[in-house]
Amino acid sequence: MQTHNLIAGQWTAAADGATIDVTNPATDEVIASVPRGGRDETRYAIQAAHDALPAWRARPAHERGALLRTLASLMLRDADRLARLMTLEQGKPLAEARGEIAYAASFLEWAAEEARRVCGEMIPASTAAKRILVLRQPVGVAAIITPWNFPSAMITRKLGPALAAGCTVVIKPAESTPLSAIAIGQLSLEAGIPAGVVNIVTGTARQIGAEMCDNFLVRKLSFTGSTPVGRVLMQQASKHLLRLSLELGGHAPFIVFDDADLDLAAAAAITTKFRNAGQTCICANRFYVHASVHDAFVERLAAATERLIVGNGLGEGVNIGPLIDDKAIAKVEEHVADATDRGARLVCGGARVRVSGCADRFYRPTVLSGLAPEMKIAHEETFGPVAPVARFETEAEAIALANDSEYGLAAYFFTRDASRLIRVAEALDYGVIGANDAAPSTAQAPFGGLKHSGFGREGGHYVMDEYTEIKYISWGV
Ligand code: NAP
Repeated sequence: MQTHNLIAGQWTAAADGATIDVTNPATDEVIASVPRGGRDETRYAIQAAHDALPAWRARPAHERGALLRTLASLMLRDADRLARLMTLEQGKPLAEARGEIAYAASFLEWAAEEARRVCGEMIPASTAAKRILVLRQPVGVAAIITPWNFPSAMITRKLGPALAAGCTVVIKPAESTPLSAIAIGQLSLEAGIPAGVVNIVTGTARQIGAEMCDNFLVRKLSFTGSTPVGRVLMQQASKHLLRLSLELGGHAPFIVFDDADLDLAAAAAITTKFRNAGQTCICANRFYVHASVHDAFVERLAAATERLIVGNGLGEGVNIGPLIDDKAIAKVEEHVADATDRGARLVCGGARVRVSGCADRFYRPTVLSGLAPEMKIAHEETFGPVAPVARFETEAEAIALANDSEYGLAAYFFTRDASRLIRVAEALDYGVIGANDAAPSTAQAPFGGLKHSGFGREGGHYVMDEYTEIKYISWGV
């Protein structure tokens, strides 16, 4: 297993030899150590990406696409190994990690196809003696910063389109989950992607981010992570007017109308709430259920929640792994305590679970009723396995409650009424809407948020706009 930084096709340590331990959140066991890189290592990586850029952008698009397809197939070939590595460093159940590897590969496959569809156009001029020719070109060196909750997919969702467009990249993975990133780097070399096209730097986030923003060779920064860090990067990026994509936090509402299929809604609630132990940016964080079906829905939700198995992600049949670190589980406890102090009722869960041979970082999946707007959980990302439920009476009230958030990433609702479906979807201030659907993310759709959830879109043909710029030639004929 490779554990070094990838710069100009070489596996390198930090200049001063410093390292960071990577631990298994389920057991606290140290599984590897990676370089503690900083400004210098980032500068070398940016230079390598810059040096590789002319040859890479000049390659025919179908060749870049073919290399991306090869990388996707290598990820699928090694899916078991990569999934196990992911579970070891991130904690999610092995079945979910396998799913993420397939999902991650799908972004590379999609981008491989999009590579050949980056087209310009010819616009009629206002005089017969001119033509206007529009070109789409790669933005240049793209910096990529990713979070720990989807250690592979958050990388390929950016890496695929960046490379497809003809950009070269420097990737900074999260400190907790660098191994999945390094494994992708290793496979990129095996796929035949030239040295310097994909560079990876692990280390001190502030220094790496600062160099990415200060270094004029970088022309694009794509960040997925929390809103506060997104703000810092946006300020730093103003120095060189760096192009930005920000995929930030979320606080998804989940509405169940009185005409919903309650079994479907309850099953969807389990999927969207408890996947990755509730540590996803689009997981439902607050449930609004019509008063006439509230009790029936809560009963179904609680029954399904109690069947979930908590344990080490490597264990057979486990549904809920550990939280990523002690701070994360403390936040979940704080949100549950705050909600119950303010009148919420614990329907099930509500405490840590001791898992034999493991660290004390597992939380029992929890359902709360009596969610109220003054509770922290009604406004802050919990990032844990807690489903708080409130009642509503009217459609307008449900929409107002759902939109009462600084975030605008994902929202879900369940109804059998087609008119209501389109009406509510249009009224919700969110970039991703799951209408009778708990799993809206897919490579062909434009994923991204509104308001404090950021801007830019990943997926679909839209993502190519993030890595290309438009130039026109006013052509006298
Ligand atoms: P985070 O603390 O913002 O970290 C994300 C990445 O930014 C990590 O690689 C982190 O490095 C790095 N970072 C931290 N401070 C930095 C700085 N000053 N300059 C440059 N980079 C910096 O977020 P997280 O806790 O890893 O991830 C959870 C958050 O991501 C949640 O808010 C979640 O909603 C959001 N998320 C959003 C999406 C989406 O598509 N919208 C998808 C997944 C997750 P270190 O790890 O080394 O600190």
